[in-house]
Amino acid sequence: MSNVLLKVNKIKKYFPKKTGSLKKNMSYVKAVDDVSFEVFEGETLGIVGESGCGKSTTGRMIMRLLEPTDGSILFEDVELSSLSKTEMRKARRDIQMVFQDPYASLNPRHTVKKILEEPLIVHGIGDKKERQTRVEEYLEIVGLSAYHAQRYPHQFSGGQRQRIGIARALMTNPKLIIADEPVSALDVSIQAQVLNLMKRLQEDLKLTYIFIAHDLGVVRHISDRVGVMYLGRLVEIAPSESLYAEPLHPYSQALLSAVPIPDPTYQREQIMLTGDTSSSTETGCTFQLRCPYATTVCKMNVPELVEVRPGHSVACHLVGEQQ
Ligand code: SF4
Repeated sequence: MSNVLLKVNKIKKYFPKKTGSLKKNMSYVKAVDDVSFEVFEGETLGIVGESGCGKSTTGRMIMRLLEPTDGSILFEDVELSSLSKTEMRKARRDIQMVFQDPYASLNPRHTVKKILEEPLIVHGIGDKKERQTRVEEYLEIVGLSAYHAQRYPHQFSGGQRQRIGIARALMTNPKLIIADEPVSALDVSIQAQVLNLMKRLQEDLKLTYIFIAHDLGVVRHISDRVGVMYLGRLVEIAPSESLYAEPLHPYSQALLSAVPIPDPTYQREQIMLTGDTSSSTETGCTFQLRCPYATTVCKMNVPELVEVRPGHSVACHLVGEQQ
């Protein structure tokens, strides 16, 4: 087993919300609630869930773009919340992010050269000539050309813009890349190209990825392990083969049943969930209002994440019984 690069331990992010007719009462939206996982060097951990499940908030807390309400995040055994602003800026050299919408995340008034040079300037890497060489080198690494450096983001297609976003994340030679829905805004035909590029870069540059997506289909071929989140909680985490062969949590089963199968001779019944992610209660399992197997115990107690097979953990009171 590889070394642990990142250890996320019981992190929470609660956003205050005013409630009541006079908006005088304070309650909290539990965007992320007690989430723990590890990321091993060189692997891809996919994190999957519907919009509002807390996956992007988790990514942003690791980047410290958001401060956790509670819990700890250790990167190479160093607690990120203990770092000063200057130390955190240095740590960001090693942890970079690729965003969903490359157009929104690239400054439209800057040339590609300026966009790619910026992280090098921020981190004091190289002189002008070295920076120029590195910009050209990384444009080629992501499948573009050196002459693209003088162009502006609007002069590229969506797929090319995401290649620029990936090149920008790579400029500081990071160890961990958090890719937040990096292919969701792209055409299906382009998605495969960008995923293949990310996979090749991972092998060539020995990268570790956290790959955030809203469906299990997208992360299938890139992830070594997959975590499934529902309403702020990690409900299942497992090696990819184990999760795709036999998802144990009812929510993971429903998500997987919606993934199209390329073999037309194989029929899989789609599990249709009722309700939506706003269907929640204060106590018990967060999935109880949508779960076809919910019982009284599910209404009373929050299920803990328990390892039921090697590396395969699930948070469900009835695992084993509804199989
Ligand atoms: Fe369904 Fe109960 Fe399991 Fe929650 S704990 S997923 S409600 S069976």
